[in-house]
Amino acid sequence: MPELRQDVFKNSWVVIATDVELKPRDFPINRSGGQHVIANSFCPFCEGQESTTPPELASYRRDGTEPNTPGWQVRTVPNKYSAFNPEGTFYSQSEGMFTRASGFGQHEVIVETPSHDLEFHELPVEQLELVFKMLRQRYNALAEDKRMKYLQIYKNRGLFAGASLSHSHSQMVGLPMVPESCRVMPRYYEENHICLMCKVLEEELALGKRIVWESEHFVILCPYASRFSYETWIVPRRHTEHYGEVTDLEISELAKAVKRLLTTLLDKLENTSYNIVFNTAPVNVDYQPGHHWNMEITPRLIVTNGIEMGTGYHINPVSPEIAARVIREKMGD
Ligand SMILES: [Zn+2]
Ligand SMILES: [Zn+2]
Repeated sequence: MPELRQDVFKNSWVVIATDVELKPRDFPINRSGGQHVIANSFCPFCEGQESTTPPELASYRRDGTEPNTPGWQVRTVPNKYSAFNPEGTFYSQSEGMFTRASGFGQHEVIVETPSHDLEFHELPVEQLELVFKMLRQRYNALAEDKRMKYLQIYKNRGLFAGASLSHSHSQMVGLPMVPESCRVMPRYYEENHICLMCKVLEEELALGKRIVWESEHFVILCPYASRFSYETWIVPRRHTEHYGEVTDLEISELAKAVKRLLTTLLDKLENTSYNIVFNTAPVNVDYQPGHHWNMEITPRLIVTNGIEMGTGYHINPVSPEIAARVIREKMGD
């Protein structure tokens, strides 16, 4: 059974996914094989393969088509290989120094297109809007479950971003606990009575040198302390705590911005692997002001090395000022 184990040295948790011995070839990055592509012989996310996934939780589909049959545009299913178990409740137990918790949580896959060969950034803007609407719908649905405390939306694209299937998809995990990284923004608010992200946005816009793109509702910037080369953040101008509060109008702008940004990054960075991570406020916990949802897009041009493992300090070979200029020039107005 999957379980969470407390890392007392790093004040964090580790998800131990399975209790079976895996061979090197079972891992995505197989050193001995030397293959640096995702090798898929069979794709469960393709249209026509609906019966090979667990039954769908939600879909946008053509009128008159039945769930779990072809005819869908965006489809959400439980993650078949999840490290989390949606049944039961969250509990933890200790044995001396060692604390473990049930692997309770809900893990969903949002299949972003029925077409196997269309990449996320290649999807039409209308299709991207549907994806963002599905993410909002699932976010709000999971937030209804009082056992969930934090909802993590993320995307792995390419082998070096941790993707194990190439068919375009995002994932959402409902967790029974709030990650430690989530405590920084409310702490800043408590001490300064202003949202950290609103304040940074104000200063970045005044400086301008790390701004990549601006629209009515969103700003794209390369953060001051970028951990990864060409790391970019998409930040809503409106102080909004939860991704689930995003409006249709904002989604239509976001879809255009994301398409343009990713097309630029993939072209400029020669088809790089990347992750997208949504940072948002916890749910079903005592209210603490100071969260401001945003998206982080991190190209994975280098793999994590020893100093990062040891100190947690990333070494980024490209300054965010240079990255912002390069992306800004290529992205245009
Ligand atoms: Zn496929
Ligand atoms: Zn704010």
